[in-house]
Amino acid sequence: MHNVLAMDIGGSHFRVGLFDHEGRRLEVLEGDTSLSGGRDWMLDQLRELSRELLKRADYPVKACGISFGGPVDFKRQQVRSLHVSGWENFALAQWVEKTLSLPCRVDNDANAGALGEYRFGAGRGSPSLFYITLSTGIGGGFILEGRVHHGRDSLAGEIGHIPVSDSGVVCACGARGCLETFCSGTAIALRGREWVSRRPESAAHVLELSGGKIESISAQAVAEAAAAGDSMAVGIIQETAHWLGRALLTVVRILNPDKIILGGGVALAGTVLLEPVRQTMRDLASSTLSYSTEILVAELEGYSALYGGAALGLELAAESGPIAS
Ligand SMILES: [Zn+2]
Repeated sequence: MHNVLAMDIGGSHFRVGLFDHEGRRLEVLEGDTSLSGGRDWMLDQLRELSRELLKRADYPVKACGISFGGPVDFKRQQVRSLHVSGWENFALAQWVEKTLSLPCRVDNDANAGALGEYRFGAGRGSPSLFYITLSTGIGGGFILEGRVHHGRDSLAGEIGHIPVSDSGVVCACGARGCLETFCSGTAIALRGREWVSRRPESAAHVLELSGGKIESISAQAVAEAAAAGDSMAVGIIQETAHWLGRALLTVVRILNPDKIILGGGVALAGTVLLEPVRQTMRDLASSTLSYSTEILVAELEGYSALYGGAALGLELAAESGPIAS
């Protein structure tokens, strides 16, 4: 018997978790990310929470797996952040090895989410799956025969940055017209704010969910209002679903996975998003290229990436062989 440590480092929130040898979640400590604190602040938090969990473990902790919310060079095990300073090509796995004396493996949050859903969530038992995380930005991860496919430059699955329009706005990645600029949480929130400032009389519910302030309207408020039947919010989610459905049909055409799993905060909207996505895909489908790929919502809710961290830790633990307990 052994335990593993998992970390999920995100732009707004972070978590450290203790898992058993079968990937059951035992305990999770978490907090809000301080963007101004930069890398050193985050490393201090991770070290303290990890040491606390290591003290509480009933069995030897054999390895650590990390989901990182930014680009990860998987071969070199280095991370970067597009939003927080100090992470440029930082050897995060090596830091854990030195600081906590644990072997460690890091992947980006979309690949980790894919792995989490594959091992413990909606993708259990699927030979292949594509996971798409819809939150502030959009990421994706492809799993084939139990392994994440990283690609030559650790860029496989970056569905948020496929160009879908010539006239779109500039994306966080620096390119123009990326899918992310049309259907990320940021895009949904922006569309909600634009709508409300033009027609406030039609947006009472969204405004109420946002404390009466247009600038506080979030993707979650739009999704909640849509789930409650608010017609303006439903319109925004349907527009989002239109872009998303096109992109997912592209995934089907290139990879034809067994499952496509929607995760991240926007996917918590559930049916209100899923149904129009499926409908868009049906509308665009070809009668001669029918497919049976299932489109599902993640089962692990906000925890897909943390479970992916646990899966990475368990992989490493298995590679390092038996441990005396
Ligand atoms: Zn982009």
